[in-house]
Amino acid sequence: MENCLFCKIASGEIQSKKAYESKNILAFHDITPQAPFHVLIIPKTHISSMNQIGDLDPEILKEILQSIPKIADENGIAEKGYRVVNNCGNFGGQTVNHIHFHLLGGRHMKWPPG
Ligand code: AMP
Ligand code: ZN
Repeated sequence: MENCLFCKIASGEIQSKKAYESKNILAFHDITPQAPFHVLIIPKTHISSMNQIGDLDPEILKEILQSIPKIADENGIAEKGYRVVNNCGNFGGQTVNHIHFHLLGGRHMKWPPG
């Protein structure tokens, strides 16, 4: 997808600090971390938002979900716990229109979110 920031990060055209990578997915550190540990997990193929999740190969969705405890464990946040967030659309607070899952940890999270 042309002019998509996260497609450019997925292809390596724009640099990122990688936390995990496979053929189909990439996890990289958020440029404006909201917690001591904050990475974004994306499919390398362009899917705009949760509303289009049906277009994502279920195997890739499974890979994204299964990468979460792996990344958490590798970064020492699994035991204490963490939060996984998807912002969808305007009201959801989505600012980059390539689906991504925030993995946040290293501090106690509040509920409800703002
Ligand atoms: P959202 O608001 O849920 O769409 O999340 C988009 C996230 O992308 C925000 O947390 C931004 O800080 C993050 N972000 C924007 N540009 C970059 C970038 N070049 N590298 C890493 N993270 C980015
Ligand atoms: Zn994209």
